[in-house]
Amino acid sequence: QAKAAGRNTIRFFNPKMQEAASRRAQLETDLHLAIENKQFQLYYQPQVDSDGAVIGSEALIRWNHPERGMVSPLDFISVAEETGQILSIGLWVLEEACQQLKRWEDAGFGALTVAVNVSARQYQHPDFVAAVIEILEKTGVKPGSLNLELTESVLSNNIDDVANKMWQLGAQGIGFALDDFGTGYSSLSYLKKLPLNYLKIDQTFVRDLLTDPNDTAIAQTIIALAQSMSLKVIAEGVETEAQRQRLHEFGCHIYQGYLFGKPVPAEELKLEEFMIQD
Ligand code: C2E
Ligand code: MG
Ligand code: MG
Ligand code: MG
Repeated sequence: QAKAAGRNTIRFFNPKMQEAASRRAQLETDLHLAIENKQFQLYYQPQVDSDGAVIGSEALIRWNHPERGMVSPLDFISVAEETGQILSIGLWVLEEACQQLKRWEDAGFGALTVAVNVSARQYQHPDFVAAVIEILEKTGVKPGSLNLELTESVLSNNIDDVANKMWQLGAQGIGFALDDFGTGYSSLSYLKKLPLNYLKIDQTFVRDLLTDPNDTAIAQTIIALAQSMSLKVIAEGVETEAQRQRLHEFGCHIYQGYLFGKPVPAEELKLEEFMIQD
């Protein structure tokens, strides 16, 4: 038994596992420093309607690591979830996004929305609702301008608690999107229990939309499902005009992807070009 061999033994690890474990430990230390030293930044990716007008953006975190340069969230969010560091990172993201939203409001772009990704562990925290409300009050943004993106992994926990928090925040005006829809294991019966506003079609279904009949069918079905439940659909990962056109034919409402713009720092987001001002 590994346990009987003593706590400090590493003889059941092979070198590859050892390397992975030490890389992870290093990442945890680096993340701790990143939180303290403000090495995170938010990028924003435009979301456009069928007319090509920017209606809002999704905030996506970037980590400017002193030695490794820009680190993708795909390389650190899951570790931050495991260690619990996602709690402080997530609060920072929410506050930063709301401050930016306020700057856009003050600059006359009051109709823009910002979508913020919320991890399962963050959402499940008992103080989550209070923390969001506090940030809204502190920054003074219209709650209706904030959307929260949850993945299906959130739904695998206590569904009543998930719904309860959504109702509380929804009552303030906050919108909810189910992100990466179709890639998780959530039951469709959850959809009708939750006060959702948007379904986001995962980019894996958009990528081969025109060539893979299965992806075509899935995308079309998700859009039809959303429409029949009065939810708006956002397609992510739209890279070509042909993809946009097909999604439009299926009845998609909102588009996001490199065709319209990559995620960029707030000041580089080209709002005037696209935006129908209110
Ligand atoms: P997501 O929420 O599904 O975000 C969409 C991802 O697709 C982003 O990757 C975006 O840059 C990428 N993308 C957008 N358009 C295209 C396109 O046309 N083609 C391709 N190939 N990719 C496109 P990113 O920024 O690397 O983020 C990856 C994931 O990390 C996000 O997926 C989200 O799950 C997570 N994430 C990012 N920021 C945060 C955050 O602040 N908090 C939490 N909890 N998770 C975050
Ligand atoms: Mg997202
Ligand atoms: Mg997504
Ligand atoms: Mg995705």
